[in-house]
Amino acid sequence: MAHIYGLSPEQQKFADKAAALAKEVLAKHAADVDANGRYPKESIEALAAAGLLGLCVPAEFGGAAQPPRTFAAVAEELAQECASTAMIYVMHVTAAQQIAAGNPADKAAILKAAAAGKHLTTLAFSEKGSRSNFWAPSSSLVADGADYKTDATKSWVTTAHNADSYVSSARMPGAESPLASTLYLVRKGDAGVNIGGFKGVGLRGNDSAPVELKGYKVPKGDLITENGKGADGMLQVVLPWFVVGTSAMSHGLCLKAIALTSGHLQGAGIDFTGQKLRDLPNLRARLADMAVATDRSRALLGYTVSEMEKPDAMTPLRVLQSRRCAIDTATHVTDLAMKACGGAAFSHHLPIERLFRDARAGWVMAPTVDHLDDFMGKALTGLPLF
Ligand SMILES: Cc1cc2nc3c(=O)[nH]c(=O)nc-3n(C[C@H](O)[C@H](O)[C@H](O)COP(=O)(O)OP(=O)(O)OC[C@H]3O[C@@H](n4cnc5c(N)ncnc54)[C@H](O)[C@@H]3O)c2cc1C
Repeated sequence: MAHIYGLSPEQQKFADKAAALAKEVLAKHAADVDANGRYPKESIEALAAAGLLGLCVPAEFGGAAQPPRTFAAVAEELAQECASTAMIYVMHVTAAQQIAAGNPADKAAILKAAAAGKHLTTLAFSEKGSRSNFWAPSSSLVADGADYKTDATKSWVTTAHNADSYVSSARMPGAESPLASTLYLVRKGDAGVNIGGFKGVGLRGNDSAPVELKGYKVPKGDLITENGKGADGMLQVVLPWFVVGTSAMSHGLCLKAIALTSGHLQGAGIDFTGQKLRDLPNLRARLADMAVATDRSRALLGYTVSEMEKPDAMTPLRVLQSRRCAIDTATHVTDLAMKACGGAAFSHHLPIERLFRDARAGWVMAPTVDHLDDFMGKALTGLPLF
């Protein structure tokens, strides 16, 4: 059967590998990762060993150079078993794309290490002062001889304690607008990096934490973009890859919710009528609604990843629509699963309540639904984005 994201036989092999690994490793640890809000070490190590950290890294650095459609299929498979692991993976792939598109001095070394499963990276855009308006950082780079330094309060960084690097953002020195930004590397273990902690409602194992940069030194060679070109990187590289990965994650949650609901409706019954729950038409209708909504959103993402390979003027709009649709779909579908499975879902008997909580992260993560609607409305009425 053709994959809804239009995979070639070669690309399908990556999805199959991710599916097998998700069932063998991620599924084993997901409940514990969620309950204890712990980093999914075993799962990330398994992804690294399988070569999946290099899935989209360019071939010249030893990666598999896979396009967005393969990334989507892999992220979807991972999210079905452990969305916290999938989130860490999506941030890694997205940040690695920005490193590949930029020009830090260690670009080749970092990407070769990522392809070999020895370097995990992430994004550090959100700040206390800019909140979810990630394209307009509050922090600034300040010239320090030939190099730079910065102070920043990054409010959320996925993989904060475990990433080897962060792709971070700041205003360029002397910026006249917050959009005049620069992307730079933050390295694990460097002086001036203080990592805090908190536990979210969902995606509890994704190692998200606030990070304080105090007098952090940024060597000139650690600039990823030229000064002032940060917003281009954020919007033209990071945003589309992030959208593909997070939309696919949402779909993975939906597919798992459908499978669990279907299993419950077939397995559980009512003694006095001798019926299974699947004999109740209202519950079957809920499941049908879940399936239609999920495949509608997956089809849009499949269309969008095709457009991304041959972009035109409509492609940025499709990218925004895909994320909007996927976030809505995941909250709707996991809500229906909670309703269809009743007490079995509410009581943790089934892991549906975890999917329900994990799906809600999409609404909080930037670009949020409000930003997406505003951007789409502007694009549809001919207004500039900013
Ligand atoms: C699980 C998880 C992982 C994350 N990982 C990372 C990461 O790795 N790196 C990173 O940089 N960030 C990360 N984030 C942060 C995320 O992208 C957001 O920046 C953050 O969640 C925003 O929270 P806030 O309270 O500052 O939101 P606020 O900006 O205060 O938003 C509150 C409400 O106001 C609305 N709002 C805000 N601004 C506008 C506007 N301009 N127009 C209309 N409405 C607006 C929002 O839509 C929202 O409904 C993560 C978040 C989550 C939940």
